[in-house]
Amino acid sequence: MIGFFAVTEELDRIREIALDPFAAARDAKKRTGKPVIGAVSSWVPDPLVIAAGGITMRFPAGLPGREGGTRARAHFQAASCFYCRSILEMGLEGSLDFLDGMLFVQSCDTQQNLSDIWKVAMPSVPVVDLYMPVNRLSSGALDYLLSEIARASDELGAITGTKIDDDTLGSALIERFKVERSIEVLYEARRACEGRVCAVDHYGACIASSCLPPEESAPLIAAAIEAVGSGEMVSRSEDDEPELACILAGSVIPYPGIYALLDMLDVAIRDDDLSVGRRLFDHNVPSGGSPFERVAGGLLDRSPGAVKHDTGMDRGGRLGELARDANVKHVVLPLLKFCDPWAWDYPRIRKRLSEEGVGTMLLELAGEEDLTAGPVRNRVEAYFEMDRVGDLFDV
Ligand code: SF4
Repeated sequence: MIGFFAVTEELDRIREIALDPFAAARDAKKRTGKPVIGAVSSWVPDPLVIAAGGITMRFPAGLPGREGGTRARAHFQAASCFYCRSILEMGLEGSLDFLDGMLFVQSCDTQQNLSDIWKVAMPSVPVVDLYMPVNRLSSGALDYLLSEIARASDELGAITGTKIDDDTLGSALIERFKVERSIEVLYEARRACEGRVCAVDHYGACIASSCLPPEESAPLIAAAIEAVGSGEMVSRSEDDEPELACILAGSVIPYPGIYALLDMLDVAIRDDDLSVGRRLFDHNVPSGGSPFERVAGGLLDRSPGAVKHDTGMDRGGRLGELARDANVKHVVLPLLKFCDPWAWDYPRIRKRLSEEGVGTMLLELAGEEDLTAGPVRNRVEAYFEMDRVGDLFDV
C-alpha cells in the first residue's frame, strides 16, 4: 500500500528505490564514480564487490514488461525462468549499460546458462564466475571455496582497478556488516510492531541494501527503523492489528506487488525466507580468521534456498521452525514461472509443513500481473478468508 504510511524524505527515497532499483544504482554510480557490478544471486558476497571499490546491483527482477521480450528468447527457451530471461532482455536492449561487470555465483542451471550466454551476447560487460562447492558439508569445501574466492577476487579487482587484499576485504566486511545488522534490526522492529509497519517499505529497505553503496544504504535503513520506533510508520491503532499473518518463502520477489497485496488484505508478514530478505543477513560470518576465510565461512553457513541441496537438509522443517517462531499458520510461496528448483521443492515443503499444521499457498507468478487486482488478489483473499471463517464443518 504505497503512500499509505508515513512520508519522510528517507522513506520516499526507499519507495522510489523499490520501484526502480536500476535507476538507483545508475544514480549511485554517477554520484560516487564507483563501478557497478551486477549480481543475479543472493549468494554473491557483497564484501568482495565493496573491497573492489564497487557497488553491487543485486537484481530483484528485471524491469516490468521484459519477461516476454524477443531478444532474450533468441537465447533462452520460452519455458525458462522469467527472472533470468527478463534480466537478459534488459541487457540486450541496452538498459544495463551502466554495469561495469557481472559477478555470478553458480547456483541453479538457468543462472549458469545466463552467465555463459552473457559472455557471448554482451562481451562489453565482463563476467566473473564464482563456483560454490557442490557439497558444502564436505571436508574439502572450505579449502576449495577459499581458492575460488581468491581467483574471483583477482578477476573482479582487474575489472574495477582495485586489488582485493586482506586490508580492503577486512574493511569491506565491517561496512557490509553494518548494512546486514541494520536489516536484521528492521526485521526485529517489524516483529515488535506487528501489523503496523508497511511491508512495502520493509521490502524497499531490503532492495536499498542491494543496489546502493553501504555508506548510503545503512543510514537509509536506519531512518526507516527510526520511523518505526517513533511511530511514524504506524497507520493503525494498537487494537486494530491484523488477525491474520504469514511468512513469505521462495526465491526473489518481483516488484513490491505481493507486499502491497498482503498489506491491503491486512495480512501481516511476520517473517520470510527470501533471497532479498532474511537470507541477506541470516548467516554467521566467523569472527576469527583472515577476511577471505570469514567470507568463505559466511557462504558455507548461509541458509540454502532450493538451489543448494545438502545431505540431510530439511527445508520444509526449517520453514516450519520459522512459522512456529513467528506464530503463524501460513506460508505464502511466490513461485516465479519456470523456476524449476523451487517447483521441485514445493511438494516436499508442503508435505512437511502440513505435518506441522502449517498451510502453504503456492502463487505462481509470471511477472506481469497486477497483484493487487484480478485473479491473484482473489486467490489470496479467498485463501485467507477461509482461515477467518474457520472450519465450517467443525460443529
Ligand atoms: S532459482 Fe529459480 S528464480 Fe532463481 S534464477 Fe534459478 S530458476 Fe530463476
